[in-house]
Amino acid sequence: MSGFNILFVTSEAAPFSKTGGLGDVSGALPAALADSNKVIVVSPLYSSINREKYGIKLVTGGCCVHMGNCEEFYALHHTVLDGVDFYFLEFDKYFNRTGIYHTKAGEYGDNPFRFSFLSRAALQVAKDLNFRPDIAHVNDWQTSLVPYYIKRLGDPFFADTKSIITIHNIGYQGIFGTEFMEYAGIAKDDFNAGAFENFGAVNLLKGGLAFADKITTVSPTYAKEIRGPIGSSGLHELLNARGSDLAGILNGIDTGVWNPAKDTYIPYQFDVKRLENKTKNKLELQKRFGLIQDEKIALFGFVGRFADQKGLYLLRDACVRAMNEMVCQFVVVGSGEQEYEEFFSALPARYPGGVGAFIGYSEELAHIVEAGSDFFVMPSLYEPCGLNQMYSLAYGTLPVVRATGGLDDTVDNYDESTGGGTGFKFEAISAEALFNTIGWAVSTYYDRPKHIEAMRKRAMAKDFGWKKSADAYIHLYKAVKGLV
Ligand code: ADP
Repeated sequence: MSGFNILFVTSEAAPFSKTGGLGDVSGALPAALADSNKVIVVSPLYSSINREKYGIKLVTGGCCVHMGNCEEFYALHHTVLDGVDFYFLEFDKYFNRTGIYHTKAGEYGDNPFRFSFLSRAALQVAKDLNFRPDIAHVNDWQTSLVPYYIKRLGDPFFADTKSIITIHNIGYQGIFGTEFMEYAGIAKDDFNAGAFENFGAVNLLKGGLAFADKITTVSPTYAKEIRGPIGSSGLHELLNARGSDLAGILNGIDTGVWNPAKDTYIPYQFDVKRLENKTKNKLELQKRFGLIQDEKIALFGFVGRFADQKGLYLLRDACVRAMNEMVCQFVVVGSGEQEYEEFFSALPARYPGGVGAFIGYSEELAHIVEAGSDFFVMPSLYEPCGLNQMYSLAYGTLPVVRATGGLDDTVDNYDESTGGGTGFKFEAISAEALFNTIGWAVSTYYDRPKHIEAMRKRAMAKDFGWKKSADAYIHLYKAVKGLV
């Protein structure tokens, strides 16, 4: 029992609000920490959050926080989920709108004001609740002012509070013009190249990295990559300067939702002892997507955002070449950039019975693809952690991945001589490398089926639950408090 008071501040937390991995982590990690610590999460009460469904109740309407040049009045709401106290800030000026960060028309222009408020008010909430945090754990640029406030405001209430900032994707740094600095209370002296300044603009993440006591990111390999000029989006010098305070801790997956033995989205539940049910899911998947129903054809799945980061142009070219030159099938589920939506929605007509596509977001199809595919393709250019490859492993669906970030950390490459490994990896950012690796998976599938079966079983035995991650964070909290 470590027994820390942990203040967890986040701009999104599933199931209340979510746009991506940050939401998943903020929903799951606090619960895993709460087994042995007292955790409160502070997040905005976006108007999209269903208060009734989650039992969110008003605590008090009369809260006030001093921003740099004014007082802001807001209301505090609360609910408990999985043993965690979630506190929500109701502040219509900033959070009563349709999107979380943006609408179709683009980013909200007042985002730096909105999230400076969140960061400052989160500390105020802790104070008002008389919750003295041992640890303030914050996430990405949206809450990266918290470490700064702890260090610079000199409030004795937080004298013993240590701050941890987690980078979920360094591609998003929160870079804005200087006009919100006064509101946020960023001192002119801290607007320098070692802290918030970024070519004349304010870089919120950079400031957070400069002031936090420890920095984490979501996989060990990504922690290395962001120290290099290519992976850091410009922050490698600062990250190298803070190198001894930087750690990579893998995200977990929600094993309550992603468990093939209990998954209610899939027609046939299965586990290592019932792999024949995986084959039944495959036949069902083929049927759902209009593919030739044949359990013997190697089937590749993809689920994800259609964004360059995900290596979509590699998938586009390699998929066409594979369909022309090999006996295999593809199922693609996703949405995003129009170019890829158009391309993949047209592909089933080019390869009838061979390629299936669903353009859009479907939780159900994501589960069915994970359950029914033989292989899962993730040719990401970079991948801080990645969830889908872990889901795939849990479902005995062997990942075909570029060896980057969390993909490299979670997938063990196939060894033809021993049959070892849990997937197929490649290094080069090229459609040819992906095509060759798909070919390697296909030939293994047809020529060495015993290896495939052993790999599936090995993959399904891996533990990607949150407990391991939570233990690693607790170890870090102990380290920053000087307890280990
Ligand atoms: P990222 O957070 O960069 O998008 P991750 O692999 O970490 O990538 O997580 C993406 C999550 O979103 C996964 O759970 C994935 O299944 C889900 N997802 C993405 N696109 C879709 C879609 N079109 N339909 C269903 N689920 C999707």
